[in-house]
Amino acid sequence: MSETPAPRDERERRERIREGLLVWYLRVRRDLPWRRTRDPYRIWVSEVMLQQTQVPTVIPYYARFLEDFPTVDALAAAPLDRVLAHWQGLGYYARARNLHAAARIVVEQQEGQVPRGRAAIRALPGIGPYIAAAVLSIAYGQDEAAIDTNIARVLCRLYDYGGDLTRAEGKRALQAYAEALLPPGRAGEFNTAIMELGATVCVARSPRCDECPVREDCLAHLRGTEELRPHRPAKRPTPYRTLAAAYCLRQAPENEPPRLLVVRRVPAGLLGGMWELPTAEVGAVETPGEALRRALGEHLGVEARAGEPLARVEHGYSHFRVGVDLCPCDLTGEPHPTGPWDAARWITPAERPSLGLTGVAVKSLAALGWGEE
Ligand code: SF4
Repeated sequence: MSETPAPRDERERRERIREGLLVWYLRVRRDLPWRRTRDPYRIWVSEVMLQQTQVPTVIPYYARFLEDFPTVDALAAAPLDRVLAHWQGLGYYARARNLHAAARIVVEQQEGQVPRGRAAIRALPGIGPYIAAAVLSIAYGQDEAAIDTNIARVLCRLYDYGGDLTRAEGKRALQAYAEALLPPGRAGEFNTAIMELGATVCVARSPRCDECPVREDCLAHLRGTEELRPHRPAKRPTPYRTLAAAYCLRQAPENEPPRLLVVRRVPAGLLGGMWELPTAEVGAVETPGEALRRALGEHLGVEARAGEPLARVEHGYSHFRVGVDLCPCDLTGEPHPTGPWDAARWITPAERPSLGLTGVAVKSLAALGWGEE
């Protein structure tokens, strides 16, 4: 087993890691759309999209988003509904809401310039330490160490760190490793290089150490602990919630398709501003129909008579899973949303693509054969 390097050796090891990574990155870097620009707005958008989504999925969304909102001013001027419609399918919609709110602040308070100061950029909605460091280093060339999941994994292995990264001391250790490695004046390039290594070579399961440019200086590799890093604390079981959603159709005049009732979630909280079928949490002693009757009476002011479920869809969020029974529903009265919803619409199939629908709503409409998934 190798020992931890002595301080002088450690300086030399750091130099070799920096150099090895930068040279390797120049050779293998993928030509991704956001790597062709130093525009802070475009880099910011890419980092937000990439936070919980894989590169191949992001590429077309990124292109379409920037086509419609090419500048921070264009984004700030757009209605939230249009921004959410662009985000449909990317998930984690709070990212889109925050991006939109932050763009408005940049335009109204920063003369349309993405802030150059760490405190000012961190004060914007949705910008945490990682996105701030990525934008400041890549767009503005500042010496800021960025740490996302990929970078954290690489650092953990390079230093063979066995602590818990979800705890404060684990985060402090990573920050210290990242700052120690950062080459002054080349932070943007180095952050991107280490990110690339984590995404393509130092992957979570079975890292490809044979192809790694820094394997001779990687403590976990030298000690054979790479598969054990980062340490993964035991997982708690994922909570599961049972929901019911109302499939309410209204007959339209002759030769027109029937219209479907959708409701918009209030802006704050999970999936805020997104459209969905009227939905209720099913209590322990309720049927799906009873749950819908209760919730639609309370929050839409209508009397609902729900039939037996036509289908069931499953969906996973970051901290829980849901199973949703889709029930045909007749309503008496016109919906007046309150509580979890702030708008209701009867839509045609043609209007569907312009709405930012929740992931569950997209799956539900596909299961019901209403529009395309
Ligand atoms: Fe990751 Fe292996 Fe490279 Fe170490 S040697 S950084 S574990 S790929």
